[in-house]
Amino acid sequence: MPAMRGELVYRCIACGASFDIYDFIYTCPHCKSLLKVENTAFDDLKKISPQRWIKLFDDRRSTDTLELSGIFRFHELILPIVPVKDIIYLGEGQTPIVRANQELGAWVGAEFFVKNDGFNPSASFKDRGMASAISYLNHVIRVKDLDNVLGICASTGDTSAAAALYLSYLPKSKVKTVVLLPKGKVTAQQLSQPLGSGATVIELPGVFDDCMRIVEQLAQDYQVFLLNSKNPVRILGQKSYAYEIAQQMRWRTQNLVVVVPIGNAGNVTAVMEGFLDLFHLGIIKELPVILGVQSEHADPIVRWRDRGVFAPVKVKPSVAQAAMIGDPVSFPKVDQLVGKHYHDRFHAIAVSETEIMEGMLMANRHGHVVCTQGGESVAGLRKALQTGICAPTQRFVVDSTSHQLKFATFQQMYFEESFGPEYAIHTRDEFKNQPVGLAADPGTIAGYLGLKQKS
Ligand SMILES: *Cc1c(COP(=O)(O)O)cnc(C)c1O
Ligand SMILES: [Zn+2]
Repeated sequence: MPAMRGELVYRCIACGASFDIYDFIYTCPHCKSLLKVENTAFDDLKKISPQRWIKLFDDRRSTDTLELSGIFRFHELILPIVPVKDIIYLGEGQTPIVRANQELGAWVGAEFFVKNDGFNPSASFKDRGMASAISYLNHVIRVKDLDNVLGICASTGDTSAAAALYLSYLPKSKVKTVVLLPKGKVTAQQLSQPLGSGATVIELPGVFDDCMRIVEQLAQDYQVFLLNSKNPVRILGQKSYAYEIAQQMRWRTQNLVVVVPIGNAGNVTAVMEGFLDLFHLGIIKELPVILGVQSEHADPIVRWRDRGVFAPVKVKPSVAQAAMIGDPVSFPKVDQLVGKHYHDRFHAIAVSETEIMEGMLMANRHGHVVCTQGGESVAGLRKALQTGICAPTQRFVVDSTSHQLKFATFQQMYFEESFGPEYAIHTRDEFKNQPVGLAADPGTIAGYLGLKQKS
């Protein structure tokens, strides 16, 4: 493979101005719009044949170089300016794709696969973006000999878990970590993660959108390194989810639908951009259809798609808490990607809280370990098949964005029927499960189970 360093710049998605990639900026200094990272030498990559790219990425599946065995299997498409020695690899990426069994497929209405990003080190897809953001940070710290860097983020739980984990790997003498969380709006498991990684955890009243506003202000006025998906370097790493799907589908994306839960819309942006890279390089012949799923309690993207105008919504409590966002920061990117490239290959669908819980419980009763957002994806696919947005003849990959265990609280609330009325969840006995307390006595247990004695 030719040595490829690429030429990266930040590019404003509104006014088109470009800025030095070695600066820490998160919005356009001229017009305040979002930035993306652009490889101005991307056309050089097109000189390499699709067959050669495929061989490179397929060969890297057996690499001994740890740094290139996670998301940086696709180094040339993620952060070519960061040399291998600066890459931080904590075991992220290359998550499995699991075929839904026949019972689950019948319930949903089509054969499908689950790609569970809960199998990442902090148990969510956020690790993909942190691997790129922290590798970049590590590189810039070395090149510019920085110290006293403060990594900061607002979070619905998983961003802070991932940020705290990856930052904890860097030298304490150079980097400190602060995360801002909405008090009472993250699960106990999620809260334990940044605490365990040694970050300063600040709890604020309100919801995620309130924390985000504060962090945006801090990033604008103070010297900090912002780790929200507004930082376009995070999006680079998250594109790997799309690259991996393409590779796991043997680079055949014809007739493929990828189902993604949408919160702040960073993930869906990255997934769309990732497939676009492969399409522009001729590695895939067709862009897949993207089906975005939101809860009825936090559905600004669905409303935008239905009505053609975007307006933030005030969120109501949702079990898909990691996606409970009324004013998605990356909406302008979604708008552009759909307008320029995806057109009718982008759908958005809303599901009820009950449907989300049933999607999760049903998937997990059939061999999966999906979170509530994964349940949201499953429910969204089911509804899309019922309403004819999708056809059973298509091929489906459903994104479970984190691990079941992170959201075990909601499963417990379902089993105990302890949801407040604001969730509007109707439980069904067939989905409930509780431990049974019995005497430590074989006869009692056999009696409870109705076992027959051996003759
Ligand atoms: C962050 C997150 C989401 C939402 O992703 P966005 O990029 O904010 O749209 C969904 N599920 C989980 C588990 C998350 O952590
Ligand atoms: Zn601008």
